[in-house]
Amino acid sequence: MNRSPFEQLQLIPPLLAAVADLGYEKPTPVQEQGIPLVLAGRDLMAGAQTGTGKTAVFALPILQRLAPLASASASPARHPVRALILTPTRELAIQVEESFRGYGKHLPLRSAVVYGGADMDAQIRQLRKGVEILVATPGRLLDHVRNRTVMFGQVSVLTLDEADRMLDMGFLPDIKRILALLPPVRQNLMFSATFPEEIRTLARTLLRDPAEIQIAARNAPAELVSHVLHPVAREKKRELLAYLVQTRGLRQVLVFTGTRIGANRLAHQLRRDHIHADAIHGDRTQAERLAALEDFKAGKTTVLVATDVASRGLDIEGLPQVINFDIPRSPEDYVHRIGRTGRAGLTGEAISLVAPEDAEALAAVERLIKRRIERVLVPGFEPRAGSVAGLMGSRRARGERRGPATSEPRRPAADPIFSKPYEPVQAPAAVPEKKPELQPARRRERQVAALLGGGKRS
Ligand code: AMP
Repeated sequence: MNRSPFEQLQLIPPLLAAVADLGYEKPTPVQEQGIPLVLAGRDLMAGAQTGTGKTAVFALPILQRLAPLASASASPARHPVRALILTPTRELAIQVEESFRGYGKHLPLRSAVVYGGADMDAQIRQLRKGVEILVATPGRLLDHVRNRTVMFGQVSVLTLDEADRMLDMGFLPDIKRILALLPPVRQNLMFSATFPEEIRTLARTLLRDPAEIQIAARNAPAELVSHVLHPVAREKKRELLAYLVQTRGLRQVLVFTGTRIGANRLAHQLRRDHIHADAIHGDRTQAERLAALEDFKAGKTTVLVATDVASRGLDIEGLPQVINFDIPRSPEDYVHRIGRTGRAGLTGEAISLVAPEDAEALAAVERLIKRRIERVLVPGFEPRAGSVAGLMGSRRARGERRGPATSEPRRPAADPIFSKPYEPVQAPAAVPEKKPELQPARRRERQVAALLGGGKRS
């Protein structure tokens, strides 16, 4: 029997018809892995970002689960909220509810979306009629709870979509309030692109024996991305970044930092170094983020400094370089970050600035990507010899594995971490004929000092 790929997932005919109407030919990787787990009633923690097809991972099984409970009755009492989906932003809420409508078009189930900044009355009218599937941003949902327009007694599935972004936006207290109102026995699904510690903590309290799946960023053809790391003292990272941008003539660089404050400060300092830089993070409004992104895409901004969460959904074709100013604490973020370059078959470069303090995080990244990232020393920016020796020595002393399994030969003992001196690589976007002059080191240092205004700034 020749069954279509979606039939093999054991979806019911109304859902198969809907995905066929939408023109889907086969499930995406996250759908292939996730849909059977959710259909089986498992709790799920999924590492996948928007664009991977993750909405269908919860929407299709939720619709399938609720299909037998669909009612043709007009009575609101016959349409209690049975599935609740929380999202961080109104845009995502609208998009998710549209997906439910698309996937559920052949089923008599009702859905609604509520979010802040919009007229409460229209939402109240819709909720009063009864809906089985409710997509909401947390704050506005609590407004409706206080207003008694919504009851949760029949909720059997809860989904947290873009959970990391919800926490980043400060929704944790609201989420906890909502959780306390739900029936204790229910299926819980959590989708997050990153897994910082607070997400893991939430997952531990929320999920029962969860299945876990992890999908790399869309179009992250790691083989098209070259990875390099520059060892550098932490306090010299910013100077090194400015140096790389200026000497290599980089034109469009996405730089990742671990914190919002760090992102802001770095963008500010780069501007003082006469580099067009802007920051994009959770403290900026949607309009500000869009404006920053437009300027970056249009080439008005050379460096866009982003936090992991704010960079979600940034779709910039052909981005030549991604620079990790901080090594991400969760190694999956490294994969998401480099997914921003090397897209659409173009080659990209992932550059990491690594201080001795970052050794552990780096080891975790290398284990995950199963390769040793090439170390390239930039003269004038080396960390002190002592700290480098300490970095290597301490790991050896603890008997830890030195990075991932690799086919590369071991480096000679004399210089175990740095494989070779810095040779500036011509960036894909840089002007080809003008190779930056880099030697001798002293002269370069003076040039850098001049570029930086002569003084050291923190
Ligand atoms: P999502 O990550 O759920 O926001 O989905 C991203 C986009 O991919 C949406 O426009 C979906 O309609 C589309 N999509 C989801 N699943 C599939 C599929 N199996 N085949 C083709 N397109 C899909």
